[in-house]
Amino acid sequence: MIHTPPADKIETQPVPLLDLKAQYATIRDDIQAAIDRVIEAQYFILGPEVAALEEEVAAYCQSRFAIGVSSGTDALLVALMAIDVKAGDEVITTPYSFFATAGSIARLGAKPVFVDIDPLTFNIDPANIEAAITDRTRAILPVHLFGQMAEMEPIMEIARHHKLMVIEDAAQAIGSEYQGRRAGSIGHLGCFSFFPSKNLGAFGDGGLVTTNDEDLATRVKRLRNHGYRKKYHSQDVGGNFRLDALQAAVLRVKLPHLDNWTAGRQENADTYRRLFAETDLVVQSDSDPAGGDLQTSGESKLIMPTVLPDRRHIYNQFVIRCQQREALMAYLKERKIGCEVYYPVPLHLQECFAELGYPPGNLPASECAAAETLALPIYPELTESMQQTVVHAIVNFYQNP
Ligand SMILES: *Cc1c(COP(=O)(O)O)cnc(C)c1O
Repeated sequence: MIHTPPADKIETQPVPLLDLKAQYATIRDDIQAAIDRVIEAQYFILGPEVAALEEEVAAYCQSRFAIGVSSGTDALLVALMAIDVKAGDEVITTPYSFFATAGSIARLGAKPVFVDIDPLTFNIDPANIEAAITDRTRAILPVHLFGQMAEMEPIMEIARHHKLMVIEDAAQAIGSEYQGRRAGSIGHLGCFSFFPSKNLGAFGDGGLVTTNDEDLATRVKRLRNHGYRKKYHSQDVGGNFRLDALQAAVLRVKLPHLDNWTAGRQENADTYRRLFAETDLVVQSDSDPAGGDLQTSGESKLIMPTVLPDRRHIYNQFVIRCQQREALMAYLKERKIGCEVYYPVPLHLQECFAELGYPPGNLPASECAAAETLALPIYPELTESMQQTVVHAIVNFYQNP
């Protein structure tokens, strides 16, 4: 039963973008017991906690193997190393993502080749991939952005046809589904992050690689620990990409709650759609194809996130498109309403990739998304009253500027 709070409360309560303390309060005793267990064992690197987490996450992700690593960034790096991506190789990916997606490619001396996104989902548009393939292309690296999976069927089809590997950047998409199949289980390798703000967050850095291929699993396992075939016998040049037992123990407490938390995020997404639909703002949603006409439209228009059929969107972020984005963001922040731009500068326009030679205007759907998107609070513990606060503030911004 949701009680409508008094109007003055809706107008004034602060709403954080994310409230990790609210989640911690619900699992404090179990977390502390798990941490005590590790401290008593004094076994801190890899070991039984990590092995148990790997088994549990592999099952959750419908993958045969899971290998815990030190971060989502290192998951990407080690996955690319496992398929032997090296200097001169090309990897096709999206420019509208977190930096590590392309950074991990470049760190191996390989070249990120950016192709534009589908403006509806913000994910790589498979229709653009084939034209970017050259005889140096080794892999395709789609990102399941904000918690919705990319178009894996056409991507896998293109990869099979051109004999390319597919690495899924599933850092924002644990438990997300495409045609009933989970993120990380369709490509050759899947990369996950346990950064605290991800849906399954550790108490520090952590990550994981999934695969259904036993040889790749063995390779990733070696690479995360100096390429050791056995202790002090290095078969590959690997590194220290190991996951801590303390992080694994924390994640094992959280994993059984993940589906509940996801359901909370999905309910909050529905609530936003309903609350926005009740306002006088022009709100466009999934059913209409969203034209990229926000910039030129004279109306106060918002575009809700699109969920394609046959997907399980896990809403790591609830990202709308809006007009006057910078002014709206400043207005919300002034009223202590958390919001953030993911991501303001697309990867092809990052300073460090200038030598790749992509001019502004080259990937227009990504550049448009970078200019128009705004993430609103969506974490599971958010209340309806807090969501009303967010929606009221946005209405006020457009109607009584
Ligand atoms: C968070 C994230 C990463 C990197 O994960 P870290 O654990 O922060 O290193 C990579 N790709 C995407 C899309 C992410 O959101």
